[in-house]
Amino acid sequence: MSGIDRRNFIKIAGLTTIIGLSGKPLADAFASQPAEASAAEKEGHVGKRWALVIDPKKCLEKEGCRACIDACHRIHNVPQFDNRKDEIKWIWKEEYEKAFLDQENEFIEDSLKEKPVLVLCNHCDNPPCVRVCPTQATWKRQDGIVMMDWHRCIGCRYCVAACPYGSRSFNWRDPRPFIKEIDKDFPTRTRGVVEKCTFCNERLAKGLPLACVEACPEKAMAFGDLEDPESEVRQLLRNRFAIRRKPYLGTQPVVFYLV
Ligand code: SF4
Repeated sequence: MSGIDRRNFIKIAGLTTIIGLSGKPLADAFASQPAEASAAEKEGHVGKRWALVIDPKKCLEKEGCRACIDACHRIHNVPQFDNRKDEIKWIWKEEYEKAFLDQENEFIEDSLKEKPVLVLCNHCDNPPCVRVCPTQATWKRQDGIVMMDWHRCIGCRYCVAACPYGSRSFNWRDPRPFIKEIDKDFPTRTRGVVEKCTFCNERLAKGLPLACVEACPEKAMAFGDLEDPESEVRQLLRNRFAIRRKPYLGTQPVVFYLV
């Protein structure tokens, strides 16, 4: 954490106390302002509202496949720890029952219910993680991508607590010795910061597809613009029934699952 960040945090902590005394909700007090479109947003793929559609049935066709996870974690310098406490995950597989807790649907095939599904940050339209961040180290872009600035993260972990999907990981240890092979084109993180999927914003800026989408041998994922009625994601959502994780929370995920 830089000296400036520490000073800012102390100021913010003081402000939090004052706001707390005044009775104003913390989330309201720190509500992030909509960010201006960055240079990266203006170049490459420019989407109005990015979304990811996952077909879990297709994903299961190649048993034990982890091509998307390996591709994402390799290009984003995600470390590999062999214990759950230190684990850092951008995209991973979760048991269906856990991923879709409280979402009973008698029409969903048993073959899907018993298998793991891919999960990642949902890039929520109404992201609670963004509302609680005291330094605006996480924010929502105009195209809906929920971003992370690791330099601004002070490691308070409010966002980890606020995310109802467990999509954020905290670096309890220096991750760099645990990265198999460092990709010099992508920054590494340090101990004490939070990280998560950013919908490959760095690749989108160059006009490239998401690493996970590109790596999938079964073409089980589609990425595109929700506001374009002709996009592949809109066509899939028009023709197939789709569910989202924990819809009752009002976070409005933009990761959809075809069932
Ligand atoms: Fe934030 Fe979690 Fe929603 Fe991602 S899934 S935008 S980390 S609340």
